Amino acid sequence: MEDNNVFIKSNEAQSSLDLNIKKNNAANSSILLIGVEKSNLSCLEALLSKDYSISIAKTAAAGIEKAIKDKPDIILLNIIKSCTDGFEMLSTLKKISETENIPVIIVSTFTDIESEEKGLILGAVDYVKIPFNDRILKARINTHIQILKQLHVIEQRGIMDGLTNIPNRRCFDERIALEWRRAMRDQRNLSFLMIDIDKFKDYNDTYGHLHGDSVLKAVAQILVAAVMRSTDMCARIGGEEFAVIMPDTNLSGAIYIAEKIRTDVEALRLPSPDGKIITTVTVSIGIASLIPKEKDTIVDFMSKADANLYTAKKAGRNKVFY
Ligand code: GH3
Ligand code: MG
Ligand code: MG
Repeated sequence: MEDNNVFIKSNEAQSSLDLNIKKNNAANSSILLIGVEKSNLSCLEALLSKDYSISIAKTAAAGIEKAIKDKPDIILLNIIKSCTDGFEMLSTLKKISETENIPVIIVSTFTDIESEEKGLILGAVDYVKIPFNDRILKARINTHIQILKQLHVIEQRGIMDGLTNIPNRRCFDERIALEWRRAMRDQRNLSFLMIDIDKFKDYNDTYGHLHGDSVLKAVAQILVAAVMRSTDMCARIGGEEFAVIMPDTNLSGAIYIAEKIRTDVEALRLPSPDGKIITTVTVSIGIASLIPKEKDTIVDFMSKADANLYTAKKAGRNKVFY
């Protein structure tokens, strides 16, 4: 029999961490558990039902239906070796507009790096291997609940950029500070892209400011489409400058997304206002990526992306530097 339902039970007295979680969590936050292994679902339900409102789906079809109908705050997807379509289920959730933004945490008996990478690339916000420590699982869930709450607060303050309809500079500043603290605390990767439209002054001077505005909107949409996880964030941080924050993403992942953005912008075809010519734009991108250590500062981290952007400009523009 495979070790599909091996959980590490913590017998220690309730830690201060547990107490913190209780204090901070929204008692009414909802979690949808999806999985085919009944004993796993029961264990997870027993573990989480005190702190969250739990619903359960025992098949992929039921999971998708419940996710659309109930709009849970978080989905916990139990993927086990004897039933491999869990990853397919994740892809489906990320393709449906009603469920694509619901953070999915995978709890899996696949403990190899490839499976973990696959889950994260497909869009899961976290990957927890079985056996796990129950307090750590709760802490990780709580982190995502906190991020959701912060996103909600940010939304409520109306700090979206009016032109491009993506988060603005203030929103970006708050979020990068949050992700920096989280990456430092959990010793996780954090990647950041700084993106600047090339020779945009010339573009405005040639085709007019209004048409320039349409370009900014189109570039913003490319960024939104390029990022894969609900925890990634794109923002307009200056006139023709954008940023992407990608938690739990290493340098190669960041390069992949940056190149996708660069080539997608390059492929944009924008008719001039009189419709007579098809115009194009390019972007230069600077990357910073690290697991923050004690000595690191957020200022240096952002300066690194800025310096790499500067190098990309000097190297001829339409380039990614890291
Ligand atoms: P580089 O490749 O070095 O980045 O050159 P650049 O011309 O893009 O850079 P520069 O900083 O000289 O000019 C930025 C231009 O971006 C100036 C302005 O015309 C344009 N811009 C900034 N904000 C807006 C905006 O909201 N709408 C439009 N249409 N243009 C803007
Ligand atoms: Mg600029
Ligand atoms: Mg520019």
